[in-house]
Amino acid sequence: MLDVLVAGAGPVGLWLAAELRLHGVEVAVVERRAAPDGRSRAVGMQAGTLDTFATRGLAERFIERGTPVPTGHFGAATTRLDFATLGAAHPFMLALGQSVTEQLLEQHAVAVGAEVLRGQEVVSLTQGPDAVEAVVRAGGTHRTVRARWVVGCDGTRSAVRQAAGIGFPGQGTTLTGWLADVELDDPPTGPLAATGPAGSFLVAPIGDGVHRLAGLSTATMHHGTGEPLTLDEVREQARALLGRDLGIRDPHWLSRYGNATRQAARYRAGRVLVAGDAAHMFFPAGGQGMNLGIQDATNLGWKLAATLQGRAPDGLLDSYDTERRPAARAVIDNTRAQLALFAAASPEQLALRDVWSEALAEPETNRRWARRIAGFDDPLPADPAPGSHPLTGTRLAGLALDTPGAPTAHPLMHHGRPLLLDLAGTRTPCPADGLEQRTATVNTTAAAPIWRDVTAVLIRPDARIAWATTDPDPRRRAADCLTALRTLHR
Ligand SMILES: Cc1cc2nc3c(=O)[nH]c(=O)nc-3n(C[C@H](O)[C@H](O)[C@H](O)COP(=O)(O)OP(=O)(O)OC[C@H]3O[C@@H](n4cnc5c(N)ncnc54)[C@H](O)[C@@H]3O)c2cc1C
Repeated sequence: MLDVLVAGAGPVGLWLAAELRLHGVEVAVVERRAAPDGRSRAVGMQAGTLDTFATRGLAERFIERGTPVPTGHFGAATTRLDFATLGAAHPFMLALGQSVTEQLLEQHAVAVGAEVLRGQEVVSLTQGPDAVEAVVRAGGTHRTVRARWVVGCDGTRSAVRQAAGIGFPGQGTTLTGWLADVELDDPPTGPLAATGPAGSFLVAPIGDGVHRLAGLSTATMHHGTGEPLTLDEVREQARALLGRDLGIRDPHWLSRYGNATRQAARYRAGRVLVAGDAAHMFFPAGGQGMNLGIQDATNLGWKLAATLQGRAPDGLLDSYDTERRPAARAVIDNTRAQLALFAAASPEQLALRDVWSEALAEPETNRRWARRIAGFDDPLPADPAPGSHPLTGTRLAGLALDTPGAPTAHPLMHHGRPLLLDLAGTRTPCPADGLEQRTATVNTTAAAPIWRDVTAVLIRPDARIAWATTDPDPRRRAADCLTALRTLHR
């Protein structure tokens, strides 16, 4: 019997499989498509995702294939989000086609021992007390796969979600945007976002001489997703919003997409879980869906492995739902707000867009939204316990260390175990299996003020801070650390 059957070899299923393999979990991914999809819906990999990949030593292989973009947009506002303020190791959005991301993730998942089986589709599930039986169709034949857990990473129409009886409430499409992957005779010098009464228009280079043009036209935003998009419509929109048509030619992909917005009513039903687009869908504003799903998988991987291996404290697996549902809710809200700005047409709505652009010029507001879009500031599911350090529950980003071989905490996290950093230099003893313990020194010139006086920090495998302290007493620190560790690890 398999430990985990993952349905869907999109970015989320592939990353989840790789994360489970870090802990020796037996995992197979079944994918309906016989061959990878050459088209790329996502073209933006956020800094938060690069940071996650860096915790496993993988960021460089993505960066080599993409184009760093130092700024982003929120609702196509003219003031751009400045990713330099993130303080992250990779302070940019990476323009990289989803097909390349999937190719690299599949190579990694297979290299660490996951099985990826293409041309195989989960069609039904039956849950028992100790296992799930999945009926998998391959060509004309059906077979039954038994697994202790099944995770649906099978996209918005998830068969796994439906078979598990998990509802997907929300709203259908009321507005559509469009995308055109094209070649340009007259490209802009960098990424571009423009807005006006005609709608919004975004341009980003996506490699191999191709540009992603995307936008929302107030004249056509009520067209259905099935209505063909023509190059002339895109040229007209470019002239209306940019004053020139960019020499648009040679379309690689023309499409319309909608704002259907839904979220799974729960992320777990018995031995079945959902992640990525199977758990949430929304208008693709700001390049967030794939990134959010990869964070779902990062959150779930170590918790499911610990549960399978009898190491999980009570409630650990259920915290996947309590942490990730609010994260998706927050992204849903910001995509709705961005869509309102994209579709602004009345004088009042256009004024709101100008006011928002002005607000983003304020450095703290800009930084806050740069962090949100980059994926570093998912909301906390609950208030941290009274008296806990303000770092508790936040996501580690940009902690520079003065430690040989580890300029950040990333190289210390490759194994996917909780990491205890003793920043007081006393090697706080916190005896526990599976805990990576290091003594480190914070680079005080690079550290944010919040790190001042921190003597120890316990970092979860998904880079959330489980516990931090400024207590100078090593024995008290060790005892508190053990208490904190028991919330992650039995
Ligand atoms: C126009 C557009 C632009 C976007 N741009 C961005 C962006 O820049 N950045 C970003 O972060 N996100 C972006 N997104 C969203 C992003 O593409 C998705 O959020 C992402 O693909 C979700 O990944 P996933 O692995 O959850 O699902 P998917 O990528 O949908 O993968 C699901 C996989 O499951 C397979 N499958 C389906 N049913 C079954 C079954 N029953 N059994 C087995 N396999 C099955 C499918 O064939 C598919 O390969 C964009 C979306 C659109 C539409």
